[in-house]
Amino acid sequence: MIFSRCFGDHAQEKREDLLYDLREASEDVFWWKTHILRSVNQDKAKEDMIKRLDENTVLIVMDWAMKFLPTSISGAYLRSDEGACYHNNMTMAACQDISKLTGFKIINDHFSEPGQGKDICDRIICAMKSALKTFGNEGNDILTASDMRKALKERKVSGTTACVGKIVEAKNSLVIKKVKGCSTIHNFQYESNGIRLWKAYGIGNGKLIKNDFLFSSHLERSSLLEVVEGQHFFENNSIRELQIKNKNAQQVPSDMMYECPQPGCKQAFDPLNQLEVHLDLGSHQHDT
Ligand SMILES: [Zn+2]
Repeated sequence: MIFSRCFGDHAQEKREDLLYDLREASEDVFWWKTHILRSVNQDKAKEDMIKRLDENTVLIVMDWAMKFLPTSISGAYLRSDEGACYHNNMTMAACQDISKLTGFKIINDHFSEPGQGKDICDRIICAMKSALKTFGNEGNDILTASDMRKALKERKVSGTTACVGKIVEAKNSLVIKKVKGCSTIHNFQYESNGIRLWKAYGIGNGKLIKNDFLFSSHLERSSLLEVVEGQHFFENNSIRELQIKNKNAQQVPSDMMYECPQPGCKQAFDPLNQLEVHLDLGSHQHDT
């Protein structure tokens, strides 16, 4: 097609340009496909961790939000986006030390594929921003972190709370040797003698970085965060819960139901908040 339509003085040049574009496009499509494959594979980590949850473990999806946990919890699976504040050598090493200092076991840490967003955090924080806006429109000033906490306490969003804290960097005693290519590692498993790393979830045996190699100086405190007096997390008794009434019925969406927008997922929900919880859990059901 390309060759048959290139005539005239500049036919050769046109042909070369078109072939160049074609080769570039073909390569881009290939890399786009690998990106989709990696993102689906990384999301599988979250599904698997949800299946492993019991009454003593939690899945924490990290954004600038979650720093405290109920004392009844003894273990955690972490998941976060590719933000440099989470995806770095220091955070990786700190998780290992926090487990030893507190007895609260961080089991593993999984990062989503770059460009795939912050998972549940974007959706929840959107509702919290809306609550802040409502509070402001009611004539209140929101100028400080304390004002934000007050607004979120007055206009609560289900399943959320907030506190005001400050990081005391001077108390950081952690010194480590950098692991080369940390940004290309997307899955970390915390073991007694070191941290096992994978580039992609479930692919291969991983590479063990021993504690002896990694740490020059350990953390002496489990947290560098100090909560401002009187600004601790407030109680919020409204929770978000997925109610699965009839598994088969969900496979046949009616006009009244909200269909899952994930390509290939056949589930539908009513009311809308059930769809939101389904999207947060990410347990989509595809035809096989
Ligand atoms: Zn779905």
